[in-house]
Amino acid sequence: MLHLNLAAVDRGEVSLREQVPPDHPMWNDTGVELTEPLEVDLTANSVGEGVLVRGTLRTKVRMSCRRCLEPVDSEVDEHVDLLFAPPMADGEDVDDGEVYPLPARGDDLDLTGAVREQVLLQAPQFTLCREDCRGLCPTCGRDLNQGSCECVPDAAPGPWDALKNVKFD
Ligand SMILES: [Zn+2]
Ligand SMILES: [Zn+2]
Repeated sequence: MLHLNLAAVDRGEVSLREQVPPDHPMWNDTGVELTEPLEVDLTANSVGEGVLVRGTLRTKVRMSCRRCLEPVDSEVDEHVDLLFAPPMADGEDVDDGEVYPLPARGDDLDLTGAVREQVLLQAPQFTLCREDCRGLCPTCGRDLNQGSCECVPDAAPGPWDALKNVKFD
């Protein structure tokens, strides 16, 4: 899965259409839960010394609402351009973050790491179940979207608080 034969790419364009299941080990320890298979639709072409892989990655990821912790599904639908290039000589720097190393030998190019990284980059850093989610009460933990609780919010200090302690004789 997610492997390209470089000898075939040398001969011409290669397309890669695969579905990566949500329980594939490549998602282990990523902190991201997929609710649908990842639809991979990529084409690979030789460019100079390297290989350009472009196309789309589509799936749905499930995350927790940042405020109330309810699960929220978000869609990932990303166009990617990934350049696999021979390792740079020392001192040369690549500005573009989307450049990945080509294996030094052999005809097998494993796209797993690059694809995983792209999906993780596109997954939202945090989500809200809705824009005006009221979140959880910091005192009793109740989900305030389902109603108010009895807790009295700490009064924010106001400009007149100091006067409360002043005694007028
Ligand atoms: Zn929420
Ligand atoms: Zn409360």
